[in-house]
Amino acid sequence: MSVAGMGKTSPQQQKSGQGIIGRPIQARINRTAFQHNLNRVRELAPDSQILCAIKANAYGHGLVSAARILADADALGVAGIDEALQLREAGVQTPVVLLEGIFHSSELVLVIRHKLTVVVHQSGQLDMLLDGPSSASIQVWVKVDSGMHRLGFLPEDVADVSERLRQCGHLNLIGHMTHLANADERKDKFTNRQIEIFFNAVQGVPGLHSIANSAGLVAWPESRTDWVRPGIMLYGVSPFAGGRAVDEGLLPVMTLQSEVIAVNHYRKGDAVGYGGSWICPEDMPVGVIAAGYGDGYPRHARQGCPVLINGKRVPLIGRVSMDMISVDLRQHPAIKCGDPVILWGEGLPVEEVAEAADTIAYELLCHISARVPLIEVE
Ligand SMILES: *Cc1c(COP(=O)(O)O)cnc(C)c1O
Repeated sequence: MSVAGMGKTSPQQQKSGQGIIGRPIQARINRTAFQHNLNRVRELAPDSQILCAIKANAYGHGLVSAARILADADALGVAGIDEALQLREAGVQTPVVLLEGIFHSSELVLVIRHKLTVVVHQSGQLDMLLDGPSSASIQVWVKVDSGMHRLGFLPEDVADVSERLRQCGHLNLIGHMTHLANADERKDKFTNRQIEIFFNAVQGVPGLHSIANSAGLVAWPESRTDWVRPGIMLYGVSPFAGGRAVDEGLLPVMTLQSEVIAVNHYRKGDAVGYGGSWICPEDMPVGVIAAGYGDGYPRHARQGCPVLINGKRVPLIGRVSMDMISVDLRQHPAIKCGDPVILWGEGLPVEEVAEAADTIAYELLCHISARVPLIEVE
């Protein structure tokens, strides 16, 4: 067992030593599951290079430890240079791509020093690159807007932008990438349209192609081009609306676990928690678990949101507090203080908890709080 946190000494080190002290909550990061999911990507796209998206602290899984576990990825994708520098400072040598490129020209010296790859998505960035330091060559991807309408050059401008980059001696154009807007809906025709728009835009323009995020990779074979860019599926989560990891042959990487810290018996009519939003319909046992929105558990999780205690599903009741939640133990009255709890992960899909909180698994994973120790396990 090793510590996957971000360099803090407490409470991670305490938990990795003899015995656990402090709150019992922790997020276990399963290396084997991580590697299994990367292999799943390889199976689906054997001819593609793989950029693993590890932005947002590797979707909450720990940036540096994710980079190490995914050591044989062809590249790592981050949102900004601060994440890239954390990787380099930790000794990670894998190529790193800044998926939103640079925000200011002063970043270019660091881009060169640390051999980072940049995306260029608008003309201001293009100018910064063209006018920037020419001491060494910078690797560049051009982002094409094929219909997501968030970042990227318009299809009709792509040939011109590429030509300007190729003319510039200190820039090395790798190729063109685009991002899919609706690929999480398997039946959505817009994805086919985006792929078509992208290929038309880059036709006859030199360079490699990259289209697929996780959903594209799984459901649109045409999007498995030179480079694929999986994120969520690496963490063992289905990229599809209403989907489950198991259906895609993926294994959950993060298991958020804690313990029952109290079992109380209340009377019919007693109100539980803030605002008294749960009224006991009869005399009943109520369990309290050390996990709340201060840990990243979603405050908007509905009554009935499943929680796994000793492998048994019990429903959430009342409002989620900062440090605690309450559960209805009527169906499992043998549950006692100290029993192990899984909030999501092995045995309880994070997708299901996300649905019960009207959000997506991506958000739950990235919102794991800094106070939750990340513990790597095999
Ligand atoms: C985050 C990101 C991805 C990965 O998306 P998933 O849906 O998590 O697979 C791919 N490409 C870009 C540009 C991204 O920012």
